[in-house]
Amino acid sequence: MCITGKRAYYSRAEAKKKAKDMSRRTGERVIPYRCDVCPDWHIGKPPPGLIRGEVSRSEIHQHRYDRARALGYEQ
Ligand SMILES: [Zn+2]
Repeated sequence: MCITGKRAYYSRAEAKKKAKDMSRRTGERVIPYRCDVCPDWHIGKPPPGLIRGEVSRSEIHQHRYDRARALGYEQ
């Protein structure tokens, strides 16, 4: 379990599958994303910038990657 309290998934594929299940159950858009504070994946609502189309998915991943490196996690 991550310190954010979110369930951690160890692979993108697993997180993706769970996000899909969750989307279907809740009717809301749920996506897998790489955590800011731990090296694992979580699922949740997409960041507002991504919904509005202002930020590309790869930019968000790059941002998270940079933060993870800054926090000392090697990817
Ligand atoms: Zn985390």
